Amino acid sequence: MTILQNVSLRPYNTFGMDVAATHFTVFNDLQQIQELSSMAWMYPKKYIVGGGSNILLTQPLEGLVIKNEWKGIALVDESDEHVWLQVNAGEIWHDTVLYAISKGWGGMENLSLIPGCVGAAPMQNIGAYGVEVKELIDEVVAWHWEENRFIALKNEDCQFGYRDSIFKQALKEKVLITSVVFRLSKKPKLNTTYGAIQQQLEKMGVHKPTIKTVSDAVIAIRTSKLPNPKDIGNAGSFFKNPVIHKAQFLSLQQQYPAIVGHASGDDTIKVAAGWLIEQAGWKGYKKGAAGVHDKQALVLVNHGGASGMEVYDLSSDIITSVHYQFGIMLEREVQIW
Ligand code: FAD
Ligand code: NAP
Repeated sequence: MTILQNVSLRPYNTFGMDVAATHFTVFNDLQQIQELSSMAWMYPKKYIVGGGSNILLTQPLEGLVIKNEWKGIALVDESDEHVWLQVNAGEIWHDTVLYAISKGWGGMENLSLIPGCVGAAPMQNIGAYGVEVKELIDEVVAWHWEENRFIALKNEDCQFGYRDSIFKQALKEKVLITSVVFRLSKKPKLNTTYGAIQQQLEKMGVHKPTIKTVSDAVIAIRTSKLPNPKDIGNAGSFFKNPVIHKAQFLSLQQQYPAIVGHASGDDTIKVAAGWLIEQAGWKGYKKGAAGVHDKQALVLVNHGGASGMEVYDLSSDIITSVHYQFGIMLEREVQIW
């Protein structure tokens, strides 16, 4: 396996930050695990990159960047109702969704067009349009750097939460996820509860939706609303939607009747962070080449030539301003390196 030195990571992150890594390699064969672990001591700091669509690079990286391109999809089990699909971590997420749809297996369709690779999906329990990937994951297999062995975590061991998992917490930087086993449905139950999906299906003249048309609807909505990283650097939602106590939400609603929130538990409300940021006056804001997207305030953008620190500083200013106005502390969703 070749270790390159002083490699620009610009092609490997969707913000398009031109930051160098002291060491860089591509992982595309399971045999390389032994080789990687034998040299692991030389690189105490290891950074795993899939599609680079959920990271912000703020400084040169001292350590080994491992670009995961380990591909492969296999049907590993089947019942009357379900299939179990093992997908290697370097597969492109959206290609996997399209593959499942082509086979008629349901579950992933609402998660269409999310950038990135399969290995990162459990990391932050990716979610969109009322579905989280935790609903589909049976098992995650990973190489544990310190224990020098593969570990297999069943769904209940992954501690999935809202944009959260054990891989972002106790196992952060300790493992390289190599594959994920998904349980998909042969008799799909569609989830079209998100208003935008229903509206889009109506617009498309679809009266009897299928996993394919739901996927098409999601793709159409996303394409119209979200900035394509190929056109403008970004990492999707920069912040999580904050979950606050119902009493605090009701009090805010007195002052801001239009505040957007959805019940997320008996006593908690998930507030649309994009709405808070927009109300605080940030939508479309630009400082140098760093900015806030003009259609979706939750997305911070690199108009070209911004540094990671400029985007990070902008995010800090937004956190302070939203906290000052609403008493809500936003949390970054994007991983800061
Ligand atoms: P990377 O950015 O490469 O890595 C993210 C983190 O995961 C890093 O900490 C990295 O070290 C770790 N990681 C990656 N691969 C592995 C591995 N094999 N083993 C261990 N750790 C690993 N997210 C959503 O949840 N829902 C959305 O709807 C959504 N929409 C988006 C839209 C746009 C336009 C963009 C740019 C981003 C969006 N995202 C969304 C965020 C992002 O696409 C997801 O978080 C995605 O899963 C990141 O995948 P990646 O391969 O690019 O991860
Ligand atoms: P949206 O539809 O304008 O909705 C705004 C917020 O309200 C969303 O964040 C969503 O929370 C919540 N919401 C809307 N309808 C809901 C419902 N019926 N039940 C519960 N919560 C509801 O959001 P958007 O920005 O256009 O994004 C659409 C979807 O794609 C969302 O699910 C969003 O999470 C996802 N997305 C994620 C990223 C990312 O980088 N993480 C980027 C783009 C889009 P949730 O976010 O919890 O769904």
